[in-house]
Amino acid sequence: MHINKNILRTAAALTLSLCLITNAHAGARKTIVLDAGHGGKDSGTIGRSGIYEKTVSLDVTLKTYSLLIKSGKYNVHLTRNDDRFITLADRRTKAYQTRADLFISIHCDGYKDSKVSGAHIFVLSPKGIKQALNFVMSKNKYKNWAFGTTKVSYKTAVNMMNSTHAKSKKFAQIYINKAKKYTGVRKHGIKEAAFAVLKPVSVPSVLIELGFLSNPEDERKLRSSGFRLRMAKAIIESIDEFFAK
Ligand SMILES: [Zn+2]
Repeated sequence: MHINKNILRTAAALTLSLCLITNAHAGARKTIVLDAGHGGKDSGTIGRSGIYEKTVSLDVTLKTYSLLIKSGKYNVHLTRNDDRFITLADRRTKAYQTRADLFISIHCDGYKDSKVSGAHIFVLSPKGIKQALNFVMSKNKYKNWAFGTTKVSYKTAVNMMNSTHAKSKKFAQIYINKAKKYTGVRKHGIKEAAFAVLKPVSVPSVLIELGFLSNPEDERKLRSSGFRLRMAKAIIESIDEFFAK
């Protein structure tokens, strides 16, 4: 009986301290959305060996996801965890609805010239920034997701977009250095585009191109599970550094 009481007391104390730990972390925990490009009827680019971009992007995404979950440091959401079609708008909506601190879309490149190779990361272009602002200001639903209110001035939206874009660029810079370190890929760089998934005005968003499936050397690497794991590690270290700074 005496022992049982002690056990109960210890269990109660443990439960309480676990609650406190959980609560303490809940506020600080960052939320990340990982977006595996393409899926289902949309295979993305197709490698010379017949491998699909949607398959490589999903595998790297799931490797990144499981390592991030294992670390216990973040709330992590996926736009897809199997071979299914997701619209671009639904991917962007996920970033808003989860109130993400970072949105990462994962893809592979393809180009008509098979000599073109390398790892790249995209952030929103000036044209894309204008489009994103006009879109969010014209749709109350998105305004509400982004700002928590539909009553927001264009100037406030611009300020939000500028701050978000600066964070996206910060992540891109960190990632390029990590990609170089983990994969030894020589050609790499930050590019700009008006891709739909880069347009959430309140969520820093990037699109990673792991390599060119149209280039024999890049494709050979992207077919290897070890290389995909190294890409996942590059993404994870970038996330850690991004939130640490
Ligand atoms: Zn793609």
